[in-house]
Amino acid sequence: MSTQRINELRKLINEYNHHYHVLDRPIVSDAHYDSCMRELLKLESEHPEMFDPYSPTQRVGGKVLDGFKKVTHDVAMLSLGNAYSLADLLAFDTRIRKDLGPVEYVAELKIDGLAMSLRYQNGRLALAATRGDGEEGEDVTHNIVTIKSIPLQLNEELTFEVRGEVYMPKAAFVRLNENRINNQQEPFANPRNAAAGSIRQLDSQIAASRQLDAYLYYFVNAQNFKVSSHSQALDRLSSLGFKVNPLTKICANIQEVWSFIEEMTAKRAELPYDIDGIVIKVNSLSLQNRMGFTAKTPRWAIAYKFPADEVMTRLEEIFLTVGRTGKITPNARLTPVTVAQTTVGFAQLHNEDYIRNKDIRVNDTVIIRKAGDIIPEVVASLPQLRDESSKPYTFEKHCPVCHQSLVRFEDEADTYCINNECPARIIEAIAHFASRDAMNIDGLGVKRVEQLYNNGLIRSVEDIYFLDQKRDALTSLEKMGEKSVDKLLTAIEASKTNSLDKLLYGLGIRHIGEKAASTLASKFTSMQSLMEATQEQLCAVKEIGTVMAQSVVLFFSQQPNHHLIDVLRSAGVNMEMTKKKSESTSFFSGKTVVLTGTLLQMTRSEASDWLSTQGANVTSSVSKNTDLVIAGSEAGSKLSKAQSLGVLVWDEERFMKEVTSIEN
Ligand code: NAD
Repeated sequence: MSTQRINELRKLINEYNHHYHVLDRPIVSDAHYDSCMRELLKLESEHPEMFDPYSPTQRVGGKVLDGFKKVTHDVAMLSLGNAYSLADLLAFDTRIRKDLGPVEYVAELKIDGLAMSLRYQNGRLALAATRGDGEEGEDVTHNIVTIKSIPLQLNEELTFEVRGEVYMPKAAFVRLNENRINNQQEPFANPRNAAAGSIRQLDSQIAASRQLDAYLYYFVNAQNFKVSSHSQALDRLSSLGFKVNPLTKICANIQEVWSFIEEMTAKRAELPYDIDGIVIKVNSLSLQNRMGFTAKTPRWAIAYKFPADEVMTRLEEIFLTVGRTGKITPNARLTPVTVAQTTVGFAQLHNEDYIRNKDIRVNDTVIIRKAGDIIPEVVASLPQLRDESSKPYTFEKHCPVCHQSLVRFEDEADTYCINNECPARIIEAIAHFASRDAMNIDGLGVKRVEQLYNNGLIRSVEDIYFLDQKRDALTSLEKMGEKSVDKLLTAIEASKTNSLDKLLYGLGIRHIGEKAASTLASKFTSMQSLMEATQEQLCAVKEIGTVMAQSVVLFFSQQPNHHLIDVLRSAGVNMEMTKKKSESTSFFSGKTVVLTGTLLQMTRSEASDWLSTQGANVTSSVSKNTDLVIAGSEAGSKLSKAQSLGVLVWDEERFMKEVTSIEN
């Protein structure tokens, strides 16, 4: 089994390497590549009898493309060992200290570009070469001279070699891809590949038009130039006129390195270029020499890679769940795997077409992605790893709960259970009504609603407000002591005073999400006037389109919904808008704001609610009409787009400062 897996992984990684290093067109994400590599390294260390000098674990980078002059590196251009956690870093530190005793480290950003070697002869740039396979690279001098920050002539007549990273700033990448899409060309997968694709061109006009830049981080044989530490070497490079990244820190120990990593992890989204980790190097050059190199990496340095948001695992089962509208969602049960620091056992498969187009099958090895707070999804399956018994997945024809036939309407991707009495739909609708962003009844999640439903205590939304008359039955339920019942009944009572927008959202009217519910509630201010509104009046409200207006009219035209509102009203549920927009005009009033990335001090939906109370218009995509982007950690393309359009960007700290000043 292991032999087969090792061979499979070697084959896969070789294929990935070819696309990435030679063609500059990766077919999988770095995170997935890294997880394959880690698995292979682990298996190879458990099976030393399988050692093979041609294994991808024993090689650096890729091959030289035809058409370029080959350059042999005097000093091999190596890769770096990887660390993925604090534990890995501590193990690196222990290894170092065992050999050298306590040492000083330099921590610097790992710029996600391509490694470059620059040779200067008597102070003039003589040759620029890519890393290639580490021993032999490509002469790309004609392209490197187009990068304005790389000096062609130094103020000292030195002969030496310097190495660094050529990269494409995020803003240039967004612009380049926009142009490519407009010209019907395939966009680049990421700035790293765009940079590599620009440098590995025979025509230097192309590189010249791509706004590349470079940071230098390695003075080769610096000891020969009266330099004794890496940090001194960086200072020397800087004084020679090279661009050296300012976010570099000398650290007295590994704990200080970790603090730097935490600081940079938070800063990562704001940086105008991509980084994929932090490089940690022993500072003293003589100590570096004492540690030496393995075949592929220096022993005195390591690259800490940011946590992966994509990993590989096995899909064990596909099962369907039913939403409150009857929409059927196919889900994958996975062999649990850690991704973005959490263990994932399930993922979304969206709909029938998604499964068919990606040919996802039970027992497949699949790639899982988890980005920010989004539910993990299956990005792709790896058919290479299937056995012969594998069969395409066929979508179920019946509801897994009420067993009625499922329906897929023409031109729709989703499948529905159209039985209004389907218990799954009712339970989901009640749980939605009670959810945090709707009526916020703590203790009434899906599991609890299911229990109450199955025990006949609740059959519809209005029953929530009669639970206080069923106290004895409630306390006799499993895991429902007096205390939990009290808490639940108090939360139900408190929900009666919620503002109209929360109630409207909780009703689950089709196409009326949280934002539309809030817009309608602000505009009509009472349930009664909303119920009486015509389609034209609804459409006249900014941000309410025809489909939404039709859906509201349809909802209130149905007798059972009238009955529901009547019962809720007589149970004492508030039917008026009570939230007031901020009286004083705050900084945010009238501004179009986009939230992106992960916020730490409040959820995105809390931030969005708060901004709305300040009169801001919170939208989901960045355009030239956006006034402000609030970027949490791990912000991605929205941030890059904002930067390229020159839109004002705040980090969470800046935003919280404003929140605090307004709230106090
Ligand atoms: P690496 O990227 O893990 O680290 C070594 C490189 O880091 C150096 O060569 C240099 O270019 C760069 N670097 C950036 N800042 C640096 C600094 N301050 N100091 C020193 N070096 C710095 O290793 P690699 O061998 O270049 O590439 C392997 C990685 O490439 C994989 O881990 C993977 O993420 C990616 N990859 C992806 C695919 C794919 O298909 N997606 C395929 C092959 C490789």
